[in-house]
Formats: sequence, structure tokens, C-alpha cells
Amino acid sequence: MTQPSAPTGETTKTDILVAGAGSTGLAAALAFARSGLKTALVGRIPPPLPGRTIALFEASVRFLDALGALERVKALACPIEGIRMIDDTDQLFPVPELTLRASEIDLPALGVNISNDELVGVLLDLVRASPEIQFIDADIADYEVNGACAAALLADGRRLEADFIVAADGRNSRARAVAGIDVKEWTYPQVALTMMLRHEFPHDNISTEWHTRSGPFTLVPLPPRDDAPHRSSLVWLMSVDDARRRLAKPREELEYEIEDYAKSEFGAMKIESDIGQFRMGGMQVSQHAKGRLALVGETCHIFPPIGAQGLNLSLRDVADLEDCLASVDLRNERELSRALVRYDRHRRADIGFRTNGVDVLNRSLIIPYLPVDLFRGASFIAVAALGPLRRAVIREGVLPHLVLPRMMRHPVRAHAG
Ligand SMILES: Cc1cc2nc3c(=O)[nH]c(=O)nc-3n(C[C@H](O)[C@H](O)[C@H](O)COP(=O)(O)OP(=O)(O)OC[C@H]3O[C@@H](n4cnc5c(N)ncnc54)[C@H](O)[C@@H]3O)c2cc1C
Repeated sequence: MTQPSAPTGETTKTDILVAGAGSTGLAAALAFARSGLKTALVGRIPPPLPGRTIALFEASVRFLDALGALERVKALACPIEGIRMIDDTDQLFPVPELTLRASEIDLPALGVNISNDELVGVLLDLVRASPEIQFIDADIADYEVNGACAAALLADGRRLEADFIVAADGRNSRARAVAGIDVKEWTYPQVALTMMLRHEFPHDNISTEWHTRSGPFTLVPLPPRDDAPHRSSLVWLMSVDDARRRLAKPREELEYEIEDYAKSEFGAMKIESDIGQFRMGGMQVSQHAKGRLALVGETCHIFPPIGAQGLNLSLRDVADLEDCLASVDLRNERELSRALVRYDRHRRADIGFRTNGVDVLNRSLIIPYLPVDLFRGASFIAVAALGPLRRAVIREGVLPHLVLPRMMRHPVRAHAG
């Protein structure tokens, strides 16, 4: 429920304060409220993101089920039954096409693809309907994170005390800075253009990635509409100059170029949304929790959208934190500190693995270097040829076994699709 503004200087008290109302913060508020904690969520409702969709894999689908969001997400999303990868780098030695299918690991789908704004809408509705969540549509101006409790100071002068702060306030997190957590940031010479497309031929619920020298060009299936039976979202990585050039083109010419990149496999393309542009960068943090505060989502990891890892990882942060804090007395500093050491260890392994994996794949595409091309090609051949390796790769992508928190362990009975 959104709270009416309170008198300046008023102090209120809660168990958990979630900072930031993006997808990660909304999911965090729902997860902690579900575990019986008095939860406050503070942040502005996120603005729409043009042409952006989110592919969420099996572990995240289970998490949405645990939050009570899955039925509504399923109604708006398209199942992803397989991922097809095509090397389009014109490297010296031909690399076979690789398709990873959900049926190989006995799942009906690897996950679902949903418009980012629709996902935020579903989570926001659940937050508003939850009597355990106090939703304050405001920015946090500052924090006090020392001592026996933590507090957020709102821009209108209100002070909100909490036993624990979950920082989901994004890449420029104020909470992270106040806690004194260091970040390492870097950039890639790339921009991602995003848009939604309608096309002539069906996608058969398969996501197709062409790996080009400027980065992946990925079509992810979307559900049909009355006037458009075949639809996909596009995430297209390219150089900054190419992005500028393409954005300046008439729509029709850009649609031809997109069809050309997709080798006309889906026929003529029509852009049906605004086009989003996102500069590519990376970020890692020195620690994932400190004192009475933990980082989740883009406060503690950023990397290019390759393999659709970002929000999947953020939801694992949330589910893992909920796991680590379950049955901890938040006022007992020793218990809390032990739980946070565990959280930091888990996140360091999971986030480090994904950040480095995406970095290596991205650089191996954009830097033409024969030994690296050979290594990438050999990996494709091995995964294509060896059934057990292929199944392990699929499983690790959608249900990472070493870091699966409780809220992601229970299979859903009526799966998406
Ligand atoms: C092109 C592209 C495609 C992607 N595709 C996928 C995909 O298919 N699958 C996937 O899993 N991931 C994908 N991602 C990643 C995913 O979109 C992000 O990981 C996710 O949106 C991050 O959500 P977040 O809530 O952590 O951060 P944000 O969405 O940035 O939310 C942070 C929130 O904090 C708020 N905030 C900031 N400061 C304050 C303050 N002082 N007080 C209160 N609130 C504050 C902001 O207003 C914002 O609403 C993609 C990313 C890109 C760029």
C-alpha cells in the first residue's frame, strides 16, 4: 500500500527496509514479507524501458511461483523451449550451430520471456496488495548504517529505522556508498539496441543468438497478439558508431538490416516498439554485505546482456539472502554477521562466475584473435557432440545447482507454457 506523506521528522520502525523499487527491490520486498518480516519498500515506480524484455529461466520461474506471481507472468509471457547459437564471426574454421533444448533435461521450457514493464507491473500489483509491505513511493536521501540498527532518511525529512537494509537501489547505489563498499567498474566499446519486432515466420518458442564480431544479435520469442502471430524481442550489441548510424536510419531501412542479420529466417521484420539504447559496462563489488546492509541486483553486478543472466542473478541474490537470514535474530549482531559471511561467500562465487563468463565470451567475439576463436569453436563442438556435457551446460544455465536457494528448489506443477 502506498503511504500518504507523513509529517517531516517522523520516525517509523520496521524489520526490513528494501531500498529501490526496480524488479529486484519489488521481488525482495515480496520475498521478505512472505517470510513474515515487517517490510518497508522505498523507491519511485520505475519508468518504462523501451523495447526491453526479460528472459527468466527455470530457477527464477520457481521463485516467481513462490512469490505468487507466476500465473500472471505466464499469461503475459512466451515460453522459451530452446536456445539456438550460431557463430557468425566468419572465423577461419567453421563452427557448428548449437541448439540447447529444455526437453534434454526433462523440462517443458527453459524459462519465459516477458516485457520488462509488464513484469514490473505484476510485481508492483502484488506489493500493493500485500498488507505486510509498507510501500513508500519516494527517494532515500541518506542512510545511517552504524550501530545496533540502520536508518534511511527520506527526501521529505522522514526517518525510517530498520533492523536490516536490503539495498536494491541500482548501479549508482547510495546505500552501497554510505556502507563504504568499493566497486570496480569497466566499460565495453558497445551499445545494446533493444526493440520488439513482428515477423513473417514462427519462432517455435526458440531463442536464436547470432554471435557476430560486434557482439550477439539475439531474437527472443514473444507471445502472439491478435494482429501479429509471430513476435520476438531483439537485443543487439554493436559498436557505439554503428548504434548512432542505425538509430539515425529510417525505420524501414533498419528493418531491412535486421532481416539481413537474421538471414531472413523469420522473413520481413517490422519494429513495433520504441528502440532502447544501453551503453555496455561491467561492475563488481569488494563485498556483498556489511554491518546491517546487503546488496542485491545491480548494486552488486553489471555485465552485458549475453545469455540473459542479469535479473536471473539478481533474483538469486534475493532468494539467497532470504535463505541466509531465515531463522536469524536480526538484532543479534553475532548471528547476523555469521549469516552475512555466508551470503557474501555464495554471491562472490555465483556473481564472479557469471561476470567472468560473460566477459570472456564477449571479448572473444569482439577481439578477433585466432587462438581465442579456436577455443570458442572447440567449446561449441564439444558441447554439441557430448550429450552429458550439453545437459550439464543447460542445467547450469537455468538451475545453477551449487547456489540454489530454497525458494528456487520446488518445481512448479503447471509450468509456463
Ligand atoms: C539490454 C538489456 C537486456 C537485458 N535482458 C535481460 C534478460 O533477458 N534477462 C535477465 O535476467 N536480465 C536482463 N537484463 C538485466 C536486467 O534488466 C537488470 O539486471 C535489471 O533490470 C536490474 O534491476 P534492478 O532492480 O537491480 O535495478 P534497477 O532496475 O536499476 O532498479 C534500481 C531502482 O532503485 C531506484 N533508486 C535509485 N536510487 C534510489 C534512492 N536514492 N532511493 C530510492 N530508490 C532509488 C531506482 O529509481 C530504480 O527504480 C538486461 C539488461 C539490459 C541492459
